[in-house]
Amino acid sequence: MRKSLSREELLALHDEQRERVSPAERLRSLNRRLEKQARFAYRNSPAVREIFDNAGIPPSSIRTVADLEELPVTTREDLEELQRSRPPFGGFLAVPLGSLDRVYVAPGPVYAVWGPERIQAQVRSLLRLGYPRPGDVALVSSAFHMGPAGLGVTDALDMMGCTVVPAGTGQTELQVKLLHDLQATALLALPSLAITILHKAEELGYDVRRDFNLKLVTGGGERQIQTLKRVFEEEYGLVVWDAYGTADLGPVAYCCGQAEGYHYDDEACVVEIADPDTGKHVGTGEVGQVVVTLFSRVYPLVRFGTGDLASFTDEPCPCGRSAPRITGIKGMVAQHVRVKGMFVHQGELAEAMTAFPQILKYQMLLTLDEHKDRVALKVEVPAGVDREALAPAVSRRCQDVLKLHMDEIEFLPEGALSGSSERFADRRWG
Ligand SMILES: [Zn+2]
Repeated sequence: MRKSLSREELLALHDEQRERVSPAERLRSLNRRLEKQARFAYRNSPAVREIFDNAGIPPSSIRTVADLEELPVTTREDLEELQRSRPPFGGFLAVPLGSLDRVYVAPGPVYAVWGPERIQAQVRSLLRLGYPRPGDVALVSSAFHMGPAGLGVTDALDMMGCTVVPAGTGQTELQVKLLHDLQATALLALPSLAITILHKAEELGYDVRRDFNLKLVTGGGERQIQTLKRVFEEEYGLVVWDAYGTADLGPVAYCCGQAEGYHYDDEACVVEIADPDTGKHVGTGEVGQVVVTLFSRVYPLVRFGTGDLASFTDEPCPCGRSAPRITGIKGMVAQHVRVKGMFVHQGELAEAMTAFPQILKYQMLLTLDEHKDRVALKVEVPAGVDREALAPAVSRRCQDVLKLHMDEIEFLPEGALSGSSERFADRRWG
């Protein structure tokens, strides 16, 4: 169990004024911390040193966020490979293994370490919302095995001086009883489980607003939070804790509750939105990969590519915080292609195709025609479908949804694509 922090220590951890400084001042302060972090990581993490040396970049040349573009992005696949060849941490660990409090295992498998900075980021994101408070009871209904979901938040709640019920997942009826009997203030669970528990409570005859003392529910970890958030807020009057993060990094951006998207957590890391192919920064509103450099003295990942595609905005937020916001996670890097200068994501293609129930299977074939991208959409339809009518409709739909002109719509008989599960067949690279 981690030691509870004093009121003064908690206040020092979370200074809202610091989050509201002017954008120029914010960047100056971020650059200062990045400069220090680059030197620390180079000195203490052998893998980071190699990244710098291989790129021919001395750590002293990283003085601003813009300078990070000179360094390559380490993808999740790179990290897996590095950990395989140099177990357990791929050379990134900056302290002796035996000095760590926790080692987590994320899917891959990839070993992950949450140093004190990661837990502090969790604490900060809860303090911003005002719940739970020291002395409150919190139900942690997340998985406690391997990954950081259950224990990571428990560590944060310990530091805040809360009483933790490690409820884990499952046993919905018992969870309802715990919420009620212990008058828990916070329910930390995946949104889909949280809503199941609340619905079960109603089924058992409880009125969530009247019979419970619940104030806060977690929103992270699942994409359906966008719809569930409204339900939690409007139907149950709850505050929703919604942050963006990964098992490797912990929380790196948070929702302020006053506008769409997730403010970068400047205290915890540097967030970049970078072109997945070149690693260069993209402009506001453009789609790129979320790339994170951690301010960590334990596991100092530098330019870690999350694999998530998103855009960002630096428009002023009604909350007054000056950190830009990640707006909408659009999908995974591995599930997209760039064609004719546009990103096309598998999910968007699937959305375009849902308009045509008569299309059984489809595949986008990308080839080169005299150095130019050529896009053919292969669609499998049953016999008897009016292909002449369908082709222009599919073309229009692709233009509308994907903003992409199809050079050809190719019809195939039923079963022709059965051997392939590829949504994109990219044949442009020889
Ligand atoms: Zn805001």
